[in-house]
Amino acid sequence: MLPIEPTVVPPSAPLIICEYCDSVHETVPLGARERAYCVRCGALVQRDDPLTVQQLLALSISAALIFIFANVFPVISITMQGLSNQATLSESVLALAKGPLTPIALVAGMTIIVVPFIQITLSCWLTSFAVLGRAAPGFKACMRTLEHLRPWSMLEVGLLGVLVAIVKLAGMLDVHPGMGLWALGMLTVLVILISGRGIRRLWKDLEDVIP
Ligand SMILES: [Zn+2]
Repeated sequence: MLPIEPTVVPPSAPLIICEYCDSVHETVPLGARERAYCVRCGALVQRDDPLTVQQLLALSISAALIFIFANVFPVISITMQGLSNQATLSESVLALAKGPLTPIALVAGMTIIVVPFIQITLSCWLTSFAVLGRAAPGFKACMRTLEHLRPWSMLEVGLLGVLVAIVKLAGMLDVHPGMGLWALGMLTVLVILISGRGIRRLWKDLEDVIP
């Protein structure tokens, strides 16, 4: 009896690897709002790209402008017996750094100011070249950095913290949410949109021009 040689059948479509269980699937053409799930673990492996490159660029520029608003205008202002005080996002982090909580201030500064700033800058950089059909210089490094930074962006946690502080203080003092808080709310949504899975479409869109 002759030994049976294993044969490798070339895939008919590009392959995609499940992020959670490493099983390999062939990609399928998806219609609007359709999703494909892993047959082994049920995780989402493929979805129709909800945002075009032009929309990603527009959202990145909006995020950059709102980031300035969120850091320039006060997030909270407090009034008590004629005395008033207000603080911006960076002032709150600096105030925290002056006390015994310096390491926490460092983490807060990183996760609500530095990381979102890098994400927005990289997203503007990558999408401004992508709309012209070109890969930005340092494309691969920028895309990988965006992917690594995603778990470190915690604007939503910062926003929740400010809201909790407002609710807690409201019983004792006259507390007003500032324009910076509204900007922080909008920024949270925009950063999730631009740095989420949507930006991964650039790998596929620029496949032929990535050096
Ligand atoms: Zn899986």
